[in-house]
Amino acid sequence: MSLFPVYTLYPVELKQGNGCYVVDANGQKYLDLYGGHAVISIGHSHPHFTAALKDQIDHLIFYSNSVENHIQEELGRRLTQESGYDDHQLFMVSSGAEANENALKLASFHTGNAEIITYTGSFHGRTTGVVATTDNPNILPKYGSQLPVHRLSMNDAEGTEKLLKTRKIAAVIIEGIQGVAGIVVPDDDFLRSLRTLCNIYNTPLIIDEVQSGFGRTGDFFAHQHSGVQADIVSCAKGMGNGFPVGGILIHPKFKARKGMLGTTFGGNHLACRATLAVLDVLKQENLLSHAKELGEFCIQGASQFLPTNQIKGRGLMIGLDLGQPIADIRKRLIFTHHIFTGSAKNPNVIRLLPPLNVTKPQLEQFFVALEHELNS
Ligand code: PLP
Repeated sequence: MSLFPVYTLYPVELKQGNGCYVVDANGQKYLDLYGGHAVISIGHSHPHFTAALKDQIDHLIFYSNSVENHIQEELGRRLTQESGYDDHQLFMVSSGAEANENALKLASFHTGNAEIITYTGSFHGRTTGVVATTDNPNILPKYGSQLPVHRLSMNDAEGTEKLLKTRKIAAVIIEGIQGVAGIVVPDDDFLRSLRTLCNIYNTPLIIDEVQSGFGRTGDFFAHQHSGVQADIVSCAKGMGNGFPVGGILIHPKFKARKGMLGTTFGGNHLACRATLAVLDVLKQENLLSHAKELGEFCIQGASQFLPTNQIKGRGLMIGLDLGQPIADIRKRLIFTHHIFTGSAKNPNVIRLLPPLNVTKPQLEQFFVALEHELNS
């Protein structure tokens, strides 16, 4: 074994993907209700997406951010407009952790402060700075990551204000909907309070939409359900439908200076073309309203056999708390029913993060399989 074995692997080798399906080396087809950690937004190998990538590969795959890149400019224009963040500006990176690193750095440059407020259950990435804001001591190294982070309970507006009053806070960072924790939706009122408090104490509000963004919840970003605007929004995962791409949307009050942020790969020609293709399909196929409708259908389906307080989430970001460990059920879903689902830090929660063009019959197929497993 010449690979550093940090991943727990299922004995399945995937060779092909098409829409909401993946196919293994033996030709077995699986329904993919997880999208490889919420990455597949518009479906595996969507023809518009693959055609755009092929075309771009034939022209120019990469050049660094030392020359004008009109594809990146077009993406900046379209992403800000189509996400409802018209006044923000885009900085491109290549992953979710890198997006949050840059968001936190920018907030620290802006305020001159170092301390960060985050919330129980958070997952913002594993790189050395941002890992300190992730609620998982098992992945925290001894060096570099001892950021002064305050971790408060979700929805604790009072505690947040107490800390903001110290005037030492560089940023408040929160996920639009917590994914890794097991689908935890912050109260709309809490998000609105955060917006008000961050305005009063002049502290940047960073909303991490790496998992919950790009249409997954039926809004472009999950937090838009509460009507708030963030100072910085971080994105990745569904943004590239499998192409590694990330970005932050930045309020104009943050003033850029040359060399302040930078990356070699972020915003390259192929990455921008991939993201533009995702935006095209989200619009052409009305995937936001589809995600909303199918999310309601999914919650309705789950409520046939689970109490409503065990069904969490919005749109196609759903957590089903089965009230028992789900590890074996997930295995049987894969190997008996040929359906991929996701797990979470909460061992009782199945995470559903399907491609946004999943259909009702596909979700029904999952509910039949799950009900069978729960009753056997
Ligand atoms: N933020 C959130 C909300 C995530 O769910 C993840 C990954 O699961 C990250 C950040 C980190 O993204 P990446 O693995 O691309 O660095």
